Amino acid sequence: APVLGFCTERGSRTSHTAIVAQSLGIPAVVGAPRLTLHVEAGDTVIVDGLDGVVIVRPDEEELRQYEAKAARYAALETRLRATRDQPVETIDGIPVEILANIELPGEAPLAVDYGASGIGLYRTEFLFLDRDAPPTEEEQVQTYAALVRSVGDRQVVFRTFDLGADKLMRDDQNRERNPALGLRAIRLGLRERQMFTAQLRALLRTAGVCNRELKVLLPMVSGIEEVREIRAIIGRERDAIGAAAGDLLVGCMIELPSAVLCADLLAKEVDFFSIGTNDLIQFCLAIDRSNDQVAYLYTPYHPSVLRAIEAVIAAGRGAGIPVAMCGGAAAELNLVPLLFGIGLRIFSVPPTMIPFIRAAVRSFSAAEAEDLAARARSSSIPSEIERLAERFMRGRMNGVP
Ligand code: PEP
Ligand code: MG
Repeated sequence: APVLGFCTERGSRTSHTAIVAQSLGIPAVVGAPRLTLHVEAGDTVIVDGLDGVVIVRPDEEELRQYEAKAARYAALETRLRATRDQPVETIDGIPVEILANIELPGEAPLAVDYGASGIGLYRTEFLFLDRDAPPTEEEQVQTYAALVRSVGDRQVVFRTFDLGADKLMRDDQNRERNPALGLRAIRLGLRERQMFTAQLRALLRTAGVCNRELKVLLPMVSGIEEVREIRAIIGRERDAIGAAAGDLLVGCMIELPSAVLCADLLAKEVDFFSIGTNDLIQFCLAIDRSNDQVAYLYTPYHPSVLRAIEAVIAAGRGAGIPVAMCGGAAAELNLVPLLFGIGLRIFSVPPTMIPFIRAAVRSFSAAEAEDLAARARSSSIPSEIERLAERFMRGRMNGVP
């Protein structure tokens, strides 16, 4: 039977378990401590992934209520999906781009169906998980080319593997003390050169096979040298492959405080930015994103986080490169006008969130959003800013939770 929903005792909303569940449209509640003490095999359990509520052995009334809630949500989703051809723009016509985050190539058609104008984040590391050996260069070319073809002429942003931290390969015995701060993403790639080079070659060849320029996004960049080193590898491999290679645009994820503070310098070295708020918030506020004990402190509404985002957008503008956001904050409905107000124009979100984000964008004007941003800037308390954002959106999307 397909998975109808699941709960975990550990983890948080931005842990990868939650991200994958959201991408696949599976209701999930994570970080419910001691839950298994209360559930037995055969129990009926309500999993409300919208509000993060789990009800074990619900009574008739609760069952009825939640069946109605599920039906309301399904109806709303259908209604919003039908709006996929409406332009994504504010009331006064300022365009916004909505892209999709995917973990598996098979999600791409679904993303297009929801109205994504492209794939803004393909987390390629999922191709490396749950298997004994990493995929070969050839296999990657096949997979990547099929993905590119499945979205027509829409863009695809390939993030090079962000392995390590909470995404370990099967034989990975190197359990680190602080894996989020450890040997992961491009750090691992620059150590495991062969595996990284194979992926970069596969991307160059995919661009060649598909006869179009592709976008490559580097995770966990801490500074300029890493970008230069990886660009040098790409240049060398491009020469080695020769005529069969295509062109790559190279972008950099902004998810480390060091990248935020050097965004103006990085902007001169790359073709685009994508802000990864999941990690950026983790590192900015020093909160382990997979630790449910400190999850209460994890918020995109912290002034430090909003200032960081605004600084990155300004740096991108200054250098004339596009700035997207692919972290979970881009998919928070109440944050949409605030992010727009501080200058964000490209949102990359889980496919199922696309209709909601589109509706949110279409519910305000640029002037209103800028006014909201100004009010948020003059507040120093996360919960206060969150309330401002909540109040701003309340009632705007008629019926959207
Ligand atoms: C992020 O950190 O916001 C991000 C998009 O990457 P991931 O969630 O895969 O770490
Ligand atoms: Mg990240």
